[in-house]
Amino acid sequence: MKGRRLISGLALAAVFLTTVMAGGAAAEPGTAERSHLQYRVEGPETRQERTRVAGTGAAIDEVADGSLVITATSEEADAVERLGFRVTALAGPEPETEPRALDFPPADSDYHNYAELTAAVDQVVADHPSIARRTSVGSSHQGRDLMAVKISDNAAADEDEPEVLFTHHQHAREHLTVEMAVYLLDLLTDGYGSDPRITELVREREIWVLPDLNPDGGEYDIATGSYRGWRKNRQPTPWNGAVGTDLNRNWAYNWGCCGGSSGNPFSSTYRGPSAASAPEVRAVSDFVRSRVVGGEQQITAAIDFHTYGELILWPYGYTYDETAPGMTRDDYDAHAELGRLMARSNGYTPQQSSDLYVTDGSINDWLWGDQGIFSYTFEMYPAGSAGGGFYPPDEVITRETSRNREAVLRLLEYADCPYRIIGEEQRYCGAGASG
Ligand SMILES: [Zn+2]
Repeated sequence: MKGRRLISGLALAAVFLTTVMAGGAAAEPGTAERSHLQYRVEGPETRQERTRVAGTGAAIDEVADGSLVITATSEEADAVERLGFRVTALAGPEPETEPRALDFPPADSDYHNYAELTAAVDQVVADHPSIARRTSVGSSHQGRDLMAVKISDNAAADEDEPEVLFTHHQHAREHLTVEMAVYLLDLLTDGYGSDPRITELVREREIWVLPDLNPDGGEYDIATGSYRGWRKNRQPTPWNGAVGTDLNRNWAYNWGCCGGSSGNPFSSTYRGPSAASAPEVRAVSDFVRSRVVGGEQQITAAIDFHTYGELILWPYGYTYDETAPGMTRDDYDAHAELGRLMARSNGYTPQQSSDLYVTDGSINDWLWGDQGIFSYTFEMYPAGSAGGGFYPPDEVITRETSRNREAVLRLLEYADCPYRIIGEEQRYCGAGASG
């Protein structure tokens, strides 16, 4: 092991503070940074207690029996302590290394930075032009292309086939999810014509891989050559100099409803000034809406990849209830059964999102509540901080991306009618039923 630390932001924040106090220019003019560090919180046992912790604005990174790991500002850590929990700082600051240009530390060079991802996508498309097509859903705040790759036979045509969406990297520091996208692109294109199961799925489905929803945050996280623990995008709040919206609290379904996000622009879980205020969220929302053809949403199922925890989560996140407006008993049971089926193949823990703690404005809730798309969050490797937390070594990439092969194929197979898993295909997908 390389003795890496999880967070290395403190020294950097000190530099920012010094320059700001001296009246000098910070690295990004007009912005103020606050250090976000990881802390262990001892005491919270229930989802209600965890929701109270999240209510301070701290991001919950890890849930264990009676304890949590959070990322928080010092103000948020104090607030968690005032709830009556014991809070200890985890990783100390790491001295800044010599700045290198926008890349992973040398020990992790197998991870794809944004330029390398773009090259990998272009290579896949060049190698498989008839079944892989690169498009764009828009641009990030800083103008980076938000790529989409469509995989299907006759990729250039819009055929009447069930569509499946894979989204990656809403959270900047969750770099393993980009590797998951690269893995999926390779799996589905190389498998076409050689693996009968994949060949059939590429024929019968239209598969959308959006490999990087937060390229600005991802590049910022690695910009110094050591990790910053950054989570949000890089959109500033003009009136106070804070930077970043938590994209996965910014989606326009019950946005900010329920104490599952922060209204403080300095928080790691800042929901933004209004629903879909982040250009990245707006672009992907518009793309998903554009898949409504003849009044019917073509996308039937989706996975949004995150790290870490080894979990499969389904909606809703905004409420502890299983059934709620837009979520019938059958809807819930089909989500849960399909989630469990996938979990049996990868060993993740399947549960409703709010079993962890309440979140609002997540893509999962929006995809289901607004668009009727069966939606899952995968929290990938590792299970806990012992495996490297947000920054597992690049040696695990192959093992931990291929670990989800079977789960993804199962979702693709059920995408023609997810209700089949509870034996209700006749009712929801039979002749005369839409979909
Ligand atoms: Zn995440």
